[in-house]
Amino acid sequence: MSKPVLGIIGGGQLGSLLSSAAKKINIKTVIFCDDKDAPAQNFSDDFVFGKYNDEEKINEFIEKVDLVTFEFENIPFNTLNKINQVKKVLPKPGINKIIQHRLYEKDFINKCNFRTVLYDSVKNNTELKTKKNFVPGIIKTCTFGYDGKGQYKINSAKDLDKINLGKGKEYIIEKFVNFKKEISVIVTRFGIQKYEIYEPIENVHEDQILKNSKIPAEISNEILNKSKNWAKIISETLDYVGTLCVEFFIDKKDNLYVNEIAPRVHNSGHLTINSYNISQFENHIRAVCGLEKKETKKLFNAKMINLIGNDILLYRNKKFLSNEFFFDYLKKEIKPKRKMGHLTIVEK
Ligand code: AMP
Repeated sequence: MSKPVLGIIGGGQLGSLLSSAAKKINIKTVIFCDDKDAPAQNFSDDFVFGKYNDEEKINEFIEKVDLVTFEFENIPFNTLNKINQVKKVLPKPGINKIIQHRLYEKDFINKCNFRTVLYDSVKNNTELKTKKNFVPGIIKTCTFGYDGKGQYKINSAKDLDKINLGKGKEYIIEKFVNFKKEISVIVTRFGIQKYEIYEPIENVHEDQILKNSKIPAEISNEILNKSKNWAKIISETLDYVGTLCVEFFIDKKDNLYVNEIAPRVHNSGHLTINSYNISQFENHIRAVCGLEKKETKKLFNAKMINLIGNDILLYRNKKFLSNEFFFDYLKKEIKPKRKMGHLTIVEK
């Protein structure tokens, strides 16, 4: 069987790294993105620029590919659904519908019987004022928020009166967890009870943006096994195909909470490129394209540093050691809080 041409919706760094991984195993990629400067076009075989609801552009894209995946979850469900009627979309669009909405996502996690933070829906400013039992807390838009976008911290009951919610938007309020640490577990599911699970990754966020990741995570064996098991059950329950990431909080009493699920490859898994025989990106491509599942093994312990905003300038002309791997996402413009590249250091 000849190898399929893979369409990827979204053209950011995840699309770039997926395209690079695909190239390694001789799979051609076509990126579809609503940003004409999308950095992933530097790494893919082909690129279609168009809005995510532009039928003509969507048709141009799907004619070029055999199947479709995506690098971010906020793609209109209708778009994914329509594409899926012509060319297979993996993971299935229905999964996206649950996970792209923070309330449905948390309801789903609770249905799996896994702990989440205390949360509730908030529809307007009047309702917000009644949520005193969520202080200290965070209010987040239910859809379209990432890297701290659309999020407000609530430090005191007074903040509940000060915050002005956008009209017609849905919000979730969450109780703040004074966590000890954050970890993520990345799993690639190939089909019923067929997985490769990466070991938990320890993550540090600054201003709600991932700053550093490392393996091994400094956690107990119990948390290690439990987090891997929860991630596996989540992927099985969703009948997921591809790579998925579950982000967790661990509180001071060693309670594990699912913070969120990313139905895609994840920034905390960038270190898998240099520290495993098969990265989260390659495994995603293998799973969605129906290629053989290969045993995934850790080669090295590693640490990943995200280069955010101007950080990238310090690295572009730097000389690196043989255990240091620098990735420049080739984004046209440097902006504060924008992920511009990353550095992985492996322990050889
Ligand atoms: P999120 O977009 O929900 O993943 O939030 C980004 C980051 O903000 C998380 O990784 C945490 O560091 C922090 N954060 C979000 N929600 C909470 C919460 N309920 N309690 C404590 N920290 C949080």
